[in-house]
Amino acid sequence: MKILVSDKLSQQGIDVLKEEAEWTVDVKTSLTPAQLLEEIKQYEGLVVRSNTKVTAEVMKAAERLKVVGRAGTGVDNVDLEAATRKGIVVMNTPGGNSISVAEHTMGLMLSIARLLPQAHSSTKEGKWEKKLFMGHELNGKTLGVIGFGKIGMEVARRAKSFMMDILVYDPYVSERVANDASVKLVALEEVFAASDIITLHVPIVDATKGMINAANIGKMKDGVWIINTARGGLIVEKDLAEALDSGKVGAAAVDVVSKEPPTADNPLLSHPKVIVTPHIAASTVEAQEVVGVEIAHQVKDYLKSGIIRNAVNFPSVSFEEYKKVGPYLQLGERLGSFISQICEGRPSDLGIRYYGEICEFNTNMIASSIIAGVLKHFLSEEVNLVNARNNLDERGIVLVESRSNRVRSYSNLISVRLKTDVREEWIEGTILSKDRIYLVSVDGIDIEVPLEGTSLFIRNTDAPGVIGQVGTTLGNSQINIANFSLGRSEKNQHAVGVVNVDGNINEDVLKQIRAYPSIKFAAVVRL
Ligand code: NAD
Repeated sequence: MKILVSDKLSQQGIDVLKEEAEWTVDVKTSLTPAQLLEEIKQYEGLVVRSNTKVTAEVMKAAERLKVVGRAGTGVDNVDLEAATRKGIVVMNTPGGNSISVAEHTMGLMLSIARLLPQAHSSTKEGKWEKKLFMGHELNGKTLGVIGFGKIGMEVARRAKSFMMDILVYDPYVSERVANDASVKLVALEEVFAASDIITLHVPIVDATKGMINAANIGKMKDGVWIINTARGGLIVEKDLAEALDSGKVGAAAVDVVSKEPPTADNPLLSHPKVIVTPHIAASTVEAQEVVGVEIAHQVKDYLKSGIIRNAVNFPSVSFEEYKKVGPYLQLGERLGSFISQICEGRPSDLGIRYYGEICEFNTNMIASSIIAGVLKHFLSEEVNLVNARNNLDERGIVLVESRSNRVRSYSNLISVRLKTDVREEWIEGTILSKDRIYLVSVDGIDIEVPLEGTSLFIRNTDAPGVIGQVGTTLGNSQINIANFSLGRSEKNQHAVGVVNVDGNINEDVLKQIRAYPSIKFAAVVRL
């Protein structure tokens, strides 16, 4: 396994990767884009911060790349679409810097309250203006937190220890979460109307862009303070500057501005009532260490065990969940692979139904593994959990997933139907005790056969002699039979069989088997 670290990463993070004795970890932090295109070819893992631009071209050149780890949150420097198309997982470390940002927010709040930057500058200039810097306490003030995610929560927690009253607006957070954090969840209008200080912790999306504008400022308390450590675009800067001029807003502190670095005409930059820092809320030694170590563990877990955490182009699963779902991913992949090898024609619809305990699991991943199993026989590029759905969409194959509470003979069961322009295949599989992966039905006919290795699949008329004919043909070609399972339908003399063999079945042998009048269909399935 070869890992390239192309931006400066904390030493602890690099050490985590180097714990794997047989891995090569190369730190090359000054590669030009052209050099990166050449270098990337040999690596399975790439770890970056924000400097390296992982473009579509880089993804294309990356012949072995499986994962891009971004130490930090924003993944603007990684072409996610190109990564997803190629089945490359992109991970980040959300939350690794939340505490740093929350502490910076508290720092800005205290700076406004006690005029710390202004008092500092004046005193350094040789003045001693004790009377000028009359501050305020935070104690007893109402803090309006807009956005109660990782950072908003940390800010609220800290503000409570300053004895502040907390009002929270976040339409996607439940009462339970608010109660657990002992904060009051209210409407946005109430945050505007009742807060002495408003702090922003939302992402920049259509609903939040420019939310601090003249109209909304008009709904706020006179002299309100506004703090923004989220994104500059949340504030209409001209409107805020005017409100500061008029005294409607008492003060503001921002770590972020709409255009970074800001232009000289940014109305907040020169305003005497505004405290500004250059987007440094997350910049602490501790945060860099945390994100470096976190991303190293994530990349390692994925390359070693396939565990996906904090992926931005794939749903994440915890280790516990992965342990539970893992065997079903294998079952899914094998069912998908089996059905695509026995199907004739152009697939148009894929139906998946879950029965039993499996309904409680992350079926999203299981479906992706089935799709990957189906598609890997049609496509030249690697199909995996990450790019499976994308590939299915691109092929115009319609996916229908369902769960059923009908009681079946197995505690868990996955039913897969693949419809083509010729016919519809239908198979079912399960996991028996000790992770034994079994095919348990084909064409609605019961059969119990391990889903593994190489096998011959046949459909035949239910007449005497079929086992003998197939057995003899395989035996004559020195192919050892490991398991022979047959199932038949009482109704229409239709039978199916799966013969697990050691070794391979070549075209010649297959031709001989197809030539028997009782054999209606025969295919080799390799899992
Ligand atoms: P998060 O995803 O954990 O939380 C965001 C919260 O906003 C969520 O709870 C979500 O439900 C809520 N939300 C979404 N739309 C909303 C809306 N219309 N109204 C109200 N709430 C809404 O994110 P986070 O890690 O807490 O980050 C918060 C902000 O801080 C983001 O803008 C992020 O980019 C920024 N950030 C800044 C720095 C920095 O250096 N200054 C560093 C990290 C993050």
